[in-house]
Amino acid sequence: MITQSRYAPLFEPLRIGPVTAPNRFYQVPHCTGMGHALPRTLAAMRGMKAAGGWGVVCTEYCSLHPTSDDQPYPFASLWDDGDVRNLAAMCEAVHAHGALAGVELWHGGSYVANLATRLPSIGVRSLPSRIEPVQSRRMDRRDIREFRRWHREAALRARSAGFDIVYVYPTHGYLVSEFLSRAWNDRSDEYGGSLENRARLMRELLEETREAVGDRCAVATRFSADGHGDAHLSAAEAHDVIAMLAQLPDLWDVVVGDYYNEEMATSRFVHEAALEEKVKYVRALTGKPVVSVGRFTSPDTMLRQLRSGVLDFIGAARPSIADPFLPTKIREDRTEDIRECIGCNVCYSNNYRGSALRCTQNPTMGEEWRSGWHPEQVPGGDGRSVLVVGAGPAGLEAAHILGKRGHVVTLAEATQQAGGRVTLESALPGLSEWARVRDYRLGQISRLSNVTLYLGNRLSAQDIREFGADHVMLATGARWRRDGAGRWHAAAMAGLPATGVLTPDDLMRGVRPSGDVVLFDDDHYYMGPVLALLLSRSGARVSYVTTEGKAGDWSHYTGEQQATQRQLIEAGVSIVTSTAVDGFDGERVSTSCVYTGRAGALPAGSLVLVTARDPEDALYRELVGSEAERADGRIECIGDCLQPSIIANAVYSGHRAARALGAVQALRAARDRVVI
Ligand code: ADP
Ligand code: SF4
Repeated sequence: MITQSRYAPLFEPLRIGPVTAPNRFYQVPHCTGMGHALPRTLAAMRGMKAAGGWGVVCTEYCSLHPTSDDQPYPFASLWDDGDVRNLAAMCEAVHAHGALAGVELWHGGSYVANLATRLPSIGVRSLPSRIEPVQSRRMDRRDIREFRRWHREAALRARSAGFDIVYVYPTHGYLVSEFLSRAWNDRSDEYGGSLENRARLMRELLEETREAVGDRCAVATRFSADGHGDAHLSAAEAHDVIAMLAQLPDLWDVVVGDYYNEEMATSRFVHEAALEEKVKYVRALTGKPVVSVGRFTSPDTMLRQLRSGVLDFIGAARPSIADPFLPTKIREDRTEDIRECIGCNVCYSNNYRGSALRCTQNPTMGEEWRSGWHPEQVPGGDGRSVLVVGAGPAGLEAAHILGKRGHVVTLAEATQQAGGRVTLESALPGLSEWARVRDYRLGQISRLSNVTLYLGNRLSAQDIREFGADHVMLATGARWRRDGAGRWHAAAMAGLPATGVLTPDDLMRGVRPSGDVVLFDDDHYYMGPVLALLLSRSGARVSYVTTEGKAGDWSHYTGEQQATQRQLIEAGVSIVTSTAVDGFDGERVSTSCVYTGRAGALPAGSLVLVTARDPEDALYRELVGSEAERADGRIECIGDCLQPSIIANAVYSGHRAARALGAVQALRAARDRVVI
């Protein structure tokens, strides 16, 4: 079948040194928030990618020695036999589906602070760690020899665990890239000075890894095609390193130097295949297989990457998280079923928060072992009819999964458009890809004859009672508060005027204040900055006020904070930090410094409050009056109307409720941990 498809080239096997990848779908190393702490969770998740058709499935950054400990972030490790056993479980899960398993051996160098192992960190010279008030210890020649031995021994452990591809990782500011850096590397020995000397450690590791495990494992390297900034490794120098070492690895996994603003950037700032111009020279230079990323979700774009000779493998982290079965869907010519990544980086934020990977589009991500969920399969239901009220992300997901379980589902939406907040928010600057959350689910529902969507149907409690469904899910969402209560103000702000106070809901429905506008961001994620940009683009003079020290402070976890602040500065928005909005009289907004309480004022004809949301649960309270009715559980709230949150949690809530309905056993929620 696939040999006749125009996508057939994506399914051709390709040799990588001593091993052969079954196709061109390559899940590059990516963080999971699981690492060494959650081995079963990790193995099941990686195995699911292989089941979905990814030909190569890699680990996240995998520490090769206790001097590289990234606590509190959940890194993988290959320090000892226990780690070998745990990662062998991942290799088995990946091999069970004919895929290759890759491991990204990693040493953090000066970047880490070794909070758990309490060993001094090591570096090309003594350098500050990224966050902690700790510096590394300068490595002498003997340390370098020791480090090479650790790397070799970890490669051998990787081979014992069953890995097929072993990485040397001289990128992203970690130890080996410190040696490559002109700014950091001040050595006068054979590891410092000329480019050849600075690349010596990288060369030695490539050679020694091949010598140690190259009989059975391919040796890969992850390298930045445009260097690490001119102070460290210029684009020309990166080119020269690749030329110099071209033949040493069996595969070049090519990235770019600007991790947050390019490689890992969200769809607010960067689009599909954004790395192409910078990485396209590598393949011709090396003649070795090349993989790179670009948030690829379109099979046509993937095909073009192969045909035009840019890549041999389609690298993906996020698209494989959003849809572990993306390759299978292309192979089976079901591209309309692809659950496309929306580029929001909620997945990435969880690693930063020390908890297992979650995904906005794929509510089963991270739940493969804990909950036993499969991204494409759901158990059959018990035939109950279900009325879902509200077609936002929670309602759409619930209706979709209930439909797949065989329930007769009626989905009623008050407005003329499905999507709820996703439809409204995807019209804001930079958020257009978020509409994929709605569109994927609408596409699935349209192919289910047992699910009927009624638009323009605002249901009352009486309508719902009269409809007589066996079960009712209320997915009626939440609305932004107009009174300023939220994180900073525990209760409503006193004395707000009847006009001139606006909420994100007003702006999303088209209200555009002009003149001086103050936006108070007490939410700290994307909504405040995105609305400030919207207002500025529509001609208002905008002051963005936040109690935090940065614009969109929480978006540090999604890697967007820097780009967010830069975008506001460039748009001419005045950013006022560490300041609370205390009042508004229609002409002036009164403020106070969060540290000193010192009062201030800003001229404003309008005040936009981005503080907190209230669940739209009036229907629920009307329908469920008593304890007994509540206990009966026949009417339940899901999504934002249960718990206002991010879109990922609304989708998860709808998914979970749809799976739980009539489940023979309570939903599993296993704990992955060491038990003594
Ligand atoms: P969530 O994120 O939980 O899915 P949203 O706010 O995105 O919530 O979506 C809620 C949806 O519910 C909106 O599209 C809204 O129009 C719809 N809705 C709210 N109340 C009713 C109602 N009484 N009848 C039908 N639809 C409703
Ligand atoms: Fe893509 Fe967002 Fe899912 Fe990450 S969380 S894979 S960025 S949709």
